[in-house]
Amino acid sequence: MKSQLQDLLVYGVNWIGDAVISLATLQGIRKVSPSTLITVLSSSSTADIYRMSPVVERVVERSGSFNRPELGKRFPLALCFPLSFRSAIDLWLTGIPERIGFTHEFRSLLLTRSLDYREWKMRAQHQSTYYRAIGEAAFGPLPVERPELFVSDELLRRTDNYLERNGLQKSPLIGINPGAHYGSAKMWPEAYYIDVINRILCTFPDAGIVMFAGKKDRDVPARIQEKIKTSRLLSTDGKIELMLSVAVLSRCCFVITNDSGMMHIGAALGKPGVAFFGPTDPVATGPQSSSIRILSHPVRCAPCLLRECPIDHRCMERLTPEDVWPSIRRGISEALGA
Ligand code: SF4
Repeated sequence: MKSQLQDLLVYGVNWIGDAVISLATLQGIRKVSPSTLITVLSSSSTADIYRMSPVVERVVERSGSFNRPELGKRFPLALCFPLSFRSAIDLWLTGIPERIGFTHEFRSLLLTRSLDYREWKMRAQHQSTYYRAIGEAAFGPLPVERPELFVSDELLRRTDNYLERNGLQKSPLIGINPGAHYGSAKMWPEAYYIDVINRILCTFPDAGIVMFAGKKDRDVPARIQEKIKTSRLLSTDGKIELMLSVAVLSRCCFVITNDSGMMHIGAALGKPGVAFFGPTDPVATGPQSSSIRILSHPVRCAPCLLRECPIDHRCMERLTPEDVWPSIRRGISEALGA
């Protein structure tokens, strides 16, 4: 057990939701080993998430040529969070003496200690246990944590400027994430989002709505905005950086989302809300906060984990606005103290 370790390198994951989930393990490590300084080697897509963790000391982006020999000299231990061959090769090339991760695709040849991925998978547990197992292999038993994201005062000032420029600084805000990078199977239908947005605008006349989007799924909120002409509906349009999106979500009082990175960010911020689940399994990747309620329609083919639905997308199509509106209306009323 490395309870006195000073410097730890963590090879971070590429998906935003996974990065948020993995923060709980880093927080657990900090609890059992307060003197350990955590550096995360991160892709540019998730670097902001790790930068916003209150327990991460430093983030090194993997883009371009990061200095492998320097990492090898500085760190005695690396935790390999991704399951890819590439991540294990990268760490092997640094020469860091101890490298821990799960076995997959001959990675055991590159890691100094590998955990049995098939055995973990058979347990059908939440994804958070995958990262915790890696952390526990190095540090012993870790406490179960809810991921946390820290939004600085300076970032909140930028957020308020952004909302002011868009005329929403005085409104109570509802955050909506209608896209999903993973694929269309995870998306609740656009027509249903339009229906629910119209209901919110009518029922809560003071509320503003912010739709979040990344570069890959910005078309979805753009199409929704085409259909609803009001200054009370703002789309981030994939144009603001992830860190600012997190801060804007921190200003929202309720979140409505597909199973996505923004869902996990909302949970890390402790936001109340609802999340639509269709092809994925909330037991495996559900939000790590009971503040976000899972809404789903049971179908025999779920969870299929497919990116595109090969049939009629019944898991989402049969979860109608009428079904979900009572939960959403009640949740927003409570959040607004109405
Ligand atoms: S196959 Fe079934 S679970 Fe998968 S996306 Fe289609 S309807 Fe949903």
